[in-house]
Parts: sequence; C-alpha cells; structure tokens
Amino acid sequence: MINSLYDRAIKVIPGGVNSPVRSFAGVGKRPVFIERAEGSWLFGVDGKKYVDYIGSWGPMIFGHAWPPLVEALKKQLELSTSIGLATEKEVEFAELLVSMVPGIEKVRLVNSGTEACMTAVRIARGVTGKQKIIKFNGCYHGHADPFLVKAGSGALTFGKPSSLGVPPETVKETLVAEFNDLQSVEQIFENHRNEIAAIIVEPVAGNMGCIPPHETFLKGLRPLATKYGACLIFDEVMTGFRLAAGGAQELFSVQADLVTFGKIIGGGIPVGAVAGKSRWMDCLAPLGPVYQAGTLSGNPLATTAGITMLSELKNNQAVYSTLENKGSRLETGLAEVFQRVGFPVQINRVGSMISIFFTENKVETFADVEQSDMKLFSAFFHEMLGNGVHLPPSGYESWFLTATLSADLIDFTVDAAEKSLKKIIT
Ligand code: PMP
Repeated sequence: MINSLYDRAIKVIPGGVNSPVRSFAGVGKRPVFIERAEGSWLFGVDGKKYVDYIGSWGPMIFGHAWPPLVEALKKQLELSTSIGLATEKEVEFAELLVSMVPGIEKVRLVNSGTEACMTAVRIARGVTGKQKIIKFNGCYHGHADPFLVKAGSGALTFGKPSSLGVPPETVKETLVAEFNDLQSVEQIFENHRNEIAAIIVEPVAGNMGCIPPHETFLKGLRPLATKYGACLIFDEVMTGFRLAAGGAQELFSVQADLVTFGKIIGGGIPVGAVAGKSRWMDCLAPLGPVYQAGTLSGNPLATTAGITMLSELKNNQAVYSTLENKGSRLETGLAEVFQRVGFPVQINRVGSMISIFFTENKVETFADVEQSDMKLFSAFFHEMLGNGVHLPPSGYESWFLTATLSADLIDFTVDAAEKSLKKIIT
C-alpha cells in the first residue's frame, strides 16, 4: 500500500510531494503516507501510528483535530468558504492580532508565510525607497525570489541564487549576514549606507534546526536598523504565538517594525499575515502606492480558524508554561539517554521548539549546523520512525511540541530514543 501510493505519487506529482521536505530526501528512503491525525498521533496508511513531532511544521499547537477548531470550521462551512467581499470576521481577527502582538496597529491577511514575508519586504522597500535587504544565512522566509539566496564565497558578499529560476539580479539586492553575529550586520550597513530597506530575521531560527538568538543579537539589531533607516522585520511565521502570546517580540522584549505570521494563526488552514504600525502598513493598496492583493485572502475559513486559535491562546496563556514543561521534560530525558548511550549531541530548545544536532560543539550559526553529522541524524530518524515516533525528516528542521503531548508520550519518545541509539551503535 505504501509503495503503491508513492509509486502513483511520483508519476503525477514532482518528487511525489507538494513540498520538498515531505519526500524524505533529507534522510533517504520512501516517505510514510499519513491517512489522518488526532491529538499527538499520526495514523499511517500502513496501519501504524506515530507520535508526531512535526505538528504540520508548527500550526498544531493544540494538537490535530482540536475539537473547538473542528466545530468552528464545520459551522463556517455551511455559511461560506469564500466570499471575496469584506466580512466581520476579518475585522475581528485583525482586532485580536492587534490586541495580542506588541506594537502593531494594522494587519493585512494573506494566504501563506511566503506571501507575508514577500509583502513585508515590498512594504519596506516602498516606504524607505531603498532596494537592498539583509537576511541571515540559514534563515528561511518562504520561497519568493529575494529569499532564495545562499551566502557567496566569504561572508558579507552578495548572495547567489540557491535555486534555478531565480534571477541573479534579484538576489543581488539580498545581502547575507551571519545569524548571531551583529558585526556581520554592521559591516553590511557600513558597506551599503543608504541602500538597505530591511533586515529580515527569524527571531529564533527554526529552519536550520532550532537556534536561539544570543542575548544581545536581537536587541542589537533594533538600534542598527534605526540608525541606518532600515525596517526591522521579524519573521514570526514559526515563532508567532508559539513562544508566547506576543511571540518573540514579547519573549525577548524587542520591537520590530513589521512582523509576519503564518502557521498557528491558521491552525492548519492556509493563512498568513503581515502587521505593523500604520506608518508602514498604510502604504498598502488601496490606501497607498504599494500593491498587494489576494482572491482568497481573509476568507471565512481562515478567519474562523484564526479567531478560534487566537482567542484560546489569549484566554489560556498557561498553555505556554505547560509547553515549556513538556519541552523541558523531553530535553532532560533525551539528554540523559544520549549521555548514557555515549553519543555527543547538542540539544537546542526554546519553549516548544527543539532540535538535536549530532556534534560535540555548540550550535549557534549555520556553519555550526553544517558541522553536525546528518548521516547519524538520518539513522536516528529511521530508527525512531520504526519505534513509533515521527520526527521531522531532516536534521535542518525544528521539532514542534503540541499541548496534547502527554508525559507518557514524552517518556515513550525517550524510551524510543534509547532503543534507537542502541540499535545504531550495534
Ligand atoms: N518563514 C518562516 C520562518 C517559515 O518557517 C516558513 C515555512 N516553514 C515560511 C516563512 C514560509 O511559510 P509558508 O510555507 O507558509 O509559505
């Protein structure tokens, strides 16, 4: 059954998947196909079940098929799936976002994290009248052209496209700095005075595995952006409503100019958002000269999901300490197992985002991630899968915990890790 589905898939879908990491390309072998999911469990078409540490790559903070969301969406389905005209729920959703996210006044809804980041950069360019942006090596902001850049030879050089089909002229406007390295940012500003429209950053990196920011890193970006007249964009597509109700801005007490969202604000329905003060946001059409639009933007399913998710997170902020406790239990359990079995690893964690790197050295930058042993990660991934735990199928991804992950399931995961490591050693 699994094989036949994959065989059918690769005939009609490039690589058999609609997003690359699902193909298991990072870990080899064929992907598992999933039939349904509930709470912290994934149910495969192979009849097996797996404890889920992907959570749809972030949105499922309350677990799969969370009953209040299912109920709200069912009700909305009968009313309309899309209208394409102004609705009350868009206003309610935006009001909720404004009430929860520090320092924002206005919100534009879009359909994905990619769109949100693309729009944020367009706003920054439109308002500042400058063209270049700074992004960080190893951070991901979706698949729009300006973001598909890898650092050129030596830091502080112009980036190169990391995908065919991206014009080199486009990525010439993207300068690549090192995460957790303020000096690399300052140097770029010095080299390109009056040319930089924006800095875009994942406040906690999650797309090279989980990498927390140094104490001074985010705090240092703020005055640099202000000094050089650039827009500071926090890409909170992953961290928004995951690390705290006010996201990384709240957790680290740093105020960005624009903030992007996705994932949790849709609870699994496609939605994204860009938000900021009116000074930035009012440049958008129809008010201002920066064009942006979307047939399905703010559609009633997205707004219903958003309102349901955010209302719960606003009224039940204890969920963040619960997630912290779960994360801590998992981290401690895994650290003990790795030590006992004798594997030197680094475990990075911020709240309910966690990653294991197979290396002896601290992992604070993309270069550090690249020093870690991805072959060992692949072996670990496959053993864990065999033991009923579905980790993200790549050593470059963060794992996401959900509120439904019980202490028993965490202990089950830690046992699975011990069995997996012992098997790898033999
Ligand atoms: N920014 C970040 C930080 C992300 O993690 C992602 C997706 N993983 C995106 C942007 C792009 O979002 P989407 O896949 O919804 O387009």
